[in-house]
Amino acid sequence: MNKRSVRDLDVRDKRVLVRVDFNVPIKDGKVTDDTRIKRALPTIRYLLSEGAHPVLISHLGRPKGERDPKYAMDPVAEHLEGLLGAPVLKLDAAVGPEVEDELENWNGEGVVLLENSRFYTGETKNDPELARHLANLADVYVNDAFGAAHRAHATTVGIAECLPAAAGLLLVEEIDYLDSVLKTPERPFVAILGGAKVSDKLGVIESLLGVADSLLIGGAMCFTFFKAKGLEVGNSLVEDDYLEEAKRLMDEAGDKLLLPADVVISEKMEAGAESRVVEVDGIPEGWMGLDVGPATVESFRERISAAKTIFWNGPMGVFEIDAFAKGTEGVARAVAESGATSVVGGGDSVAAVTKLGLEDEMSFISTGGGASLEYVEGKELPGVAALPDKQ
Ligand code: ADP
Ligand code: MG
Repeated sequence: MNKRSVRDLDVRDKRVLVRVDFNVPIKDGKVTDDTRIKRALPTIRYLLSEGAHPVLISHLGRPKGERDPKYAMDPVAEHLEGLLGAPVLKLDAAVGPEVEDELENWNGEGVVLLENSRFYTGETKNDPELARHLANLADVYVNDAFGAAHRAHATTVGIAECLPAAAGLLLVEEIDYLDSVLKTPERPFVAILGGAKVSDKLGVIESLLGVADSLLIGGAMCFTFFKAKGLEVGNSLVEDDYLEEAKRLMDEAGDKLLLPADVVISEKMEAGAESRVVEVDGIPEGWMGLDVGPATVESFRERISAAKTIFWNGPMGVFEIDAFAKGTEGVARAVAESGATSVVGGGDSVAAVTKLGLEDEMSFISTGGGASLEYVEGKELPGVAALPDKQ
């Protein structure tokens, strides 16, 4: 990445405001998935080892621009302290005279965690005043929140203009991995796309068609393609407004694009419902496709085994229900066994891989769902654009 990294800055004895992505699931006051916290540790540890004083800030959930105890950062602070093995001083605000006082009186040990940035309306509006108040708290700004880099907010964009700024180690790693896949992939490069909606991913499909050797399509989105081809898809999820677009993409893609040969169908999207496997031209009225079938997994596996580079976004079926999880599992295992450089992006895809315990078998798991998709689409991420270039 051609942006200045935290390693390029002199941070000794400096207070460093670090935008992290600690937007983690919390239940009954406990963090239930700490992946994002763990992925921020290298930058935090690097700063501590360089003698800096990290002051961390993140958003959590979607509070409405005001203090809401449900979204307070306390459970995150407690969890972080356990992982870091160093004190975490959690403050009850993110800006203001009290925060400034508390930082003045801080003994400088371990890290400070500020309160949820979305307790302030200025955050999502990228309010320059909020950015200035935040800048008052530190000497240097580091953005390590890849998962929030597609948002132009005060803690991702505004503040980068107020302080010497740089990218954190995770942000650099995320961009470098995506670049290696998109710009200089070892071939064959196989892209696998699934998930709920074609409309969410048209830009991604288009962009991947430009670089990938094969594009394997599963998930609900394949039914929009099947309908566009004139097949009966029963009650499967279809986006009728995108049939023309699907047709155009299929014409453009030719045999690069591989659709399922068979699907698992059911009358109801629920655990315990009767299901069967049919060929894609055999979906009866009243039934819906909820997973790709075994023949599809085999044909996808063939392309995946030959791949040197793989990008995967979107589950192959309704993996949340065991009866419709086999397609996603089969594809995940094929990717794990392929020996290819594999990058998985997307909230639900990552959840599926994690549920299968295969996360360590992938070369890289992106922490950013929306951010990684926008990057693959070729969009500029505002949080990255706001950082100065490497000298
Ligand atoms: P990601 O978060 O990885 O980008 P998406 O959000 O696009 O993935 O899609 C994930 C959702 O798609 C899952 O909740 C899954 O149940 C759903 N899904 C996958 N296949 C189907 C299908 N055939 N019918 C309905 N929903 C599906
Ligand atoms: Mg999702």
